[in-house]
Amino acid sequence: MIMKKRRISILGSTGSIGRQALDIVARHPDRFEVAALSAHSRSDELFEQIRAFRPKAAGLSGDRAEIPADLRGLDWYFGKDCLERIASEVDCDDVLVSVVGIAGLDSVISARKAGKRVLLANKEALVAGGQLVMDLCPQDNEDPVLIPVDSEHSAIYQCLLANKGNPFTKIILTASGGPFRTWTLDKIQDAGINEALNHPNWSMGQKITIDSASMFNKALEMIEARWLFHAKPEQIEVIIHPQSIIHSLVEFVDGVQLAQLGVPDMRAPIAFAMAYPDRISTGSDPLRLDQTGILSFEAPDLTRFPALRLSMEAMKQGGAAPCVLNAANEVAVDLFLKERIRFGDINRIVEESLNRKGHLRADSLSAVHEADAIARETALSLVGV
Ligand code: NAD
Ligand code: MG
Repeated sequence: MIMKKRRISILGSTGSIGRQALDIVARHPDRFEVAALSAHSRSDELFEQIRAFRPKAAGLSGDRAEIPADLRGLDWYFGKDCLERIASEVDCDDVLVSVVGIAGLDSVISARKAGKRVLLANKEALVAGGQLVMDLCPQDNEDPVLIPVDSEHSAIYQCLLANKGNPFTKIILTASGGPFRTWTLDKIQDAGINEALNHPNWSMGQKITIDSASMFNKALEMIEARWLFHAKPEQIEVIIHPQSIIHSLVEFVDGVQLAQLGVPDMRAPIAFAMAYPDRISTGSDPLRLDQTGILSFEAPDLTRFPALRLSMEAMKQGGAAPCVLNAANEVAVDLFLKERIRFGDINRIVEESLNRKGHLRADSLSAVHEADAIARETALSLVGV
């Protein structure tokens, strides 16, 4: 039987998720065709990807570069709005949004408005504009219109699918605890960049790696889960599981929990989203529990890692509070990577920004962007920038 290829646009194709998605395409040329690719910088890498995967369109959202002669025949998109234009204008079935930060929000909205399925790696879009995105994702659609790529959310999605519509009572997100899981509060305050970038289990982009060290990654994922699965804030829990083998769990009314397990390799959740409802090979090693050793669990420590408390507070407050949390965190991570602030300042900047601006509204896309801009200014002003 000849299978119709799914045509995928990959926004942020030069990143960690984008490159792994292309690895899946390369393993299954009979299933996937690349419609468009985009990058923010590293244009040379984008050009190589275009030569290998032959999309009809491509975009550079950051600095404009000279397009090589052999690639000038493509439909090129440049500049700030290039992601949303690719998402709506380029003919395709799926849009994988794998850019980092709130830059992903408008493209998610524009892909949905154009009737495309969104494969969502970019968690910041849901954190900042969750209500707006979910309003464009009807639950009663026969085919899903939004499939999560984040490993925890893919795990939950798979557990819920296996349970055929039974409502959950709890969503339990696992967290590795990051490189500072066993560090004292004092030591964490002054952690260095290389220590924060040294994640024990996953190799990822810089921003999410810093977020994993501060546990803001899990804070963002709590809010991401709240929207994706229509959960109440109090239904979302986090448990530390240093081995990252159980990717998350769902609890049902009978007290039973379903979990999804696998080795920590993002190609599995990426491929799950890309090939849904089929399962395909990913190049990832199968899980061998007899060689995994002990799986351990502990409660998160909210004193050393206040991010989880701030996330719960922001979720309960609603409005633009999660958007402010996200924006202040993006600013703080950037300042930390530029060696302008200490690691411990990240928490302080986010908490103070929430105190000052958490009350803002988020009921339209322009209100979200306004709250994002105000939160960024506030966060910068806290460090005198
Ligand atoms: P990355 O930094 O490796 O790659 C980011 C990509 O987005 C690059 O292609 C870059 O050119 C592009 N980009 C950066 N800034 C941009 C901007 N302002 N506008 C448009 N494009 C921009 O990031 P990553 O680790 O691949 O993460 C991407 C997203 O996926 C993040 O939201 C992250 O939280 C999420 N995620 C990543 C992983 C992982 O394993 N890497 C796991 C789960 C979720
Ligand atoms: Mg994750």
